[in-house]
Amino acid sequence: MSKYVGEVPKQYDPKIVEKEVKSLWDQEQTYEAVKKFRAKGPKFYFLDGPPFPSSDTPHIGTSWGKVVKDTVIRYKRSQGFNVRDQPGYDCHGLPIELAIEQKFGIKTKKDIENFGLERFITECRLFAETNSAAMGRAFADLGIWMDWAKPYMTHQDSYVESGWWGVKQASSKGLLEHGQRVVHWCPQDETVLSDYEVVLEYKMLRDPSIYVKFPVEGKGNEFILIWTTTPWTLPSNVAVMVNPDFQYARVRSGNETLILAKERIEAVAKATGRTLELLESFPGTQLDGVTYRSPLETLVPIQLNLKNAHRVVLSKEYVTLEEGTGCVHSAPGHGEEDFEVGVRYGLPVLMLVDDQGKFVPEAGKYAGKPVRSANPEVIDDLKSLGMLFHSEEIEHRSPVCWRCKTPLLIRATDQWLIHIAQKKSAFMKEVDATRWIPDWAGAVQFKNWLEGLKDWVVSRQRFWGTPFPVWICDSCNKQKVIGSKQELLENASSTPDLPTLHVPWVNNVKLQCECGEEMTRVPDVMDVWFDSGGASLACLGYPQNAEESKFWWPADFIVEGRDQITAWFFALLKSGMVTMGKSPYKTVLMHGFALDSEGREMHKSAGDYVTADEVVERFGRDSFRYYVLQSTLWEDLRFSWDAVKQYSGDLSTFWNTFVFAGTYMSLDKFSPRVPLKQLTRSLRPEDRWLLSRMNRTIKEATALMDEYKIHEAVRKLKTFLVEDLSHTYVRFIRRRTWVEKQTRDKLAAYTTLYTALMAALVMLTPITPFLTESVYQHMLRNAEPKHPQSVHMLDWPKSDERWINDSLEEEMKAAKDIISTVAVARMQKSVKQRQPVPKVIVATNSEPVRKALRTYLTLLLDQANTRTLTRTPKGASSKYEDPTRFAKAEFADGTVHVDLKLSKSELAEGLARDAVRRMQQMRKEMDLKVDSYIHAYILAPSAKSANLLKGKRTFIAGEVRAKQLVIDTKKEETDAPYYRKTWQINSESYEFGLCEKTKMDGKSEAKKVEVD
Ligand SMILES: [Zn+2]
Ligand SMILES: [Zn+2]
Repeated sequence: MSKYVGEVPKQYDPKIVEKEVKSLWDQEQTYEAVKKFRAKGPKFYFLDGPPFPSSDTPHIGTSWGKVVKDTVIRYKRSQGFNVRDQPGYDCHGLPIELAIEQKFGIKTKKDIENFGLERFITECRLFAETNSAAMGRAFADLGIWMDWAKPYMTHQDSYVESGWWGVKQASSKGLLEHGQRVVHWCPQDETVLSDYEVVLEYKMLRDPSIYVKFPVEGKGNEFILIWTTTPWTLPSNVAVMVNPDFQYARVRSGNETLILAKERIEAVAKATGRTLELLESFPGTQLDGVTYRSPLETLVPIQLNLKNAHRVVLSKEYVTLEEGTGCVHSAPGHGEEDFEVGVRYGLPVLMLVDDQGKFVPEAGKYAGKPVRSANPEVIDDLKSLGMLFHSEEIEHRSPVCWRCKTPLLIRATDQWLIHIAQKKSAFMKEVDATRWIPDWAGAVQFKNWLEGLKDWVVSRQRFWGTPFPVWICDSCNKQKVIGSKQELLENASSTPDLPTLHVPWVNNVKLQCECGEEMTRVPDVMDVWFDSGGASLACLGYPQNAEESKFWWPADFIVEGRDQITAWFFALLKSGMVTMGKSPYKTVLMHGFALDSEGREMHKSAGDYVTADEVVERFGRDSFRYYVLQSTLWEDLRFSWDAVKQYSGDLSTFWNTFVFAGTYMSLDKFSPRVPLKQLTRSLRPEDRWLLSRMNRTIKEATALMDEYKIHEAVRKLKTFLVEDLSHTYVRFIRRRTWVEKQTRDKLAAYTTLYTALMAALVMLTPITPFLTESVYQHMLRNAEPKHPQSVHMLDWPKSDERWINDSLEEEMKAAKDIISTVAVARMQKSVKQRQPVPKVIVATNSEPVRKALRTYLTLLLDQANTRTLTRTPKGASSKYEDPTRFAKAEFADGTVHVDLKLSKSELAEGLARDAVRRMQQMRKEMDLKVDSYIHAYILAPSAKSANLLKGKRTFIAGEVRAKQLVIDTKKEETDAPYYRKTWQINSESYEFGLCEKTKMDGKSEAKKVEVD
């Protein structure tokens, strides 16, 4: 076992790297070890937003979210935090019920009861558990370090119990009510939908658009004119709303008089193609209390028996002049606004529609008909009754059920509510106290959504959900809210068979009422958003597991996609406010959607659907992670294979930088025994520059990670690794690390490189955990001083501000400008970089360039490959303008002149460097180890060139590690296994022969020429 820095395999192959790392993690139980290692740190409670396990392969957007979560978790662990990392699944709900219905060809709720509730619920549970397990394996495979062995699942008994406790809290605070509310209803699924679900899906629907006459009581030929797109709600009409602030009018149409808003006369005349003649106008208040007859009273007899109905009522808020007639048909059973105004006026709520969206028997002529398909019949009837003024069709955007695509109905139903509408200001306060990233997610989007805060309808009329924990006495109507399984058992009238806290088993439990009779559970289950909204406490096992819960709660951090503003972020807040009186989270990060390359949502049905698995298959896990993490988090990600490919190239650059360092450090038996602070006097300016860049990068990346601006931190790291380390510093120190002697200069270069690489490696671990682990295992695991078992146990680096040096960094920019400008000038005259030149003159008036020429002189001489480097003021360089002697190129701060008059020594050195390059290429082709020695010969085309090379023999032999080097113009026969190749240099042919020294034993040299 070597105690020195080790080598990294030359080729970056993510397939091999990730496979090796995964098996190492399995073998050494690395995840468990890292968790234990950080167990005593300060707490960091990450709360996972539970996906629906409605399929077994996660959407790429979900995988992106999980990568963000994992990155934050790893970052916090590297800072010493004890991170709670339990994943979760939202296991209840309609999507799963529908999947089971589809599997068994079930169509209605009645079919489910015939199928057998026990069997149905068991199938739902199995489906949820099978898919959760498959999703968990997919996430784990992506390198997501969460507690996959112990996820929280909303159907677990302890989770259900926590929900019951929440309902009991609401009840004991007087917030729970069973009451009538107007809701969006799916007639196919026979359940209420939440407001969040309603906005998920819209369809363009063709609906009637009709103008109807309501005869004014006792006025013969006078009618109130209304407009509606839902004729099927007319049998349920109980009032007409007008606006007291508007002017209304009586108009003549043929021999009839119509009442409508004055300002709508022209529009209505145009829409109906009728002539409307103004008779008089008056304020809307004059219509207050005017009574009329229902136009359908002869066909829907219940209309004749209504009390306190069929009159004009006033509403400033809900009557506008934007459409219709200014007289609004009102059916409190089918409109939230109608309902609200109806309550104010004590109007009856007429409900003629059942759960399946069909008219009930009381609907007279229409009984048993599905409401939407009764529309034509209602219109025909109005026509034959003489009440239809005009009829046409319109297309408009209407909400449909997000699962089954059935158009939703609006209807008043009895639901369980939690009163929160009055708490808007308390909610807003909590939003302000929460940290939102980006800040407009909370300050604008979430607050806008909260403006419409309504009471929380928490009941659903389904089966696979948390059973609503309320029992009601069959005799005295007393009601009891149950808060736990134990409380249920204590109150049960007999010992129940209760394998899980679900229907139908829970329904069989009867409670003993004080009056002596039995209490029966209400049939409802809970909204799944009540389940996931309670996650912050339920996953901790609260209230049973009170002490541990107190340690963790509230959650420090949550992150989900932008659709969760109106969903999970909202549900969590509602739940937290109802149970604990405060928000259950401190920091919210919102990420965008993963879209296809055209910016469309990725659906399985569409052709360009991509999964994380496919990206991993082609480019590896780290590439997928790096690609999604560099993308601006809160913007949508337009997936592009080209971009993944491009970004995966960065990983090879990172890898190669470690390869370079590992190769030379292990060759030189380097281990970081001498601390940097003891080497300060040996540091060159470029070393200090790199350390300045390193400390600045640490400082900036840490601040960005702390602000959860992960993509910006990734970009900073990339600049440091690719630009500063790989493209710049590694190039600068090649010659220093190549010398064989162990000098302090070389030690300074290694120690600087090592320090910078270690910082970069640790900062990269949360982003590319496989690549960094592999590098660490190869380079450092066995090196001194003693290293922990995994790179994921290393501490996040701390910035030492004393190293940060603005002018050194500014001057380096100038120095790099000079180096690249000299290269441009050389290229114009086809003078190779390897060819030394006698002089470079920089004409400039810039202060940073002038300073750079002083600070980085040695570096510049080396990198520009010139004997001397001088500066002259701008404009004073006319004597360097002769194009036969000087090459010239401009840069932003001046001009560079390169003297091309070469001496014999410069020619010799240029030729020697050309030879070295070819021989190093051949060493590579022979697959020689970096430190293996060779014997070599060069066959030159002329005595002149042979002589030039001979003068540089020591240099050449040193560079190519030749123990013996023959330079001649004639070839002699030899039996040694030379690898030979002919190269063109300056349009002349040179033959090179290389042989590994160990293979020379017993063979004759090409010619014995001693290297000095
Ligand atoms: Zn539906
Ligand atoms: Zn009772």
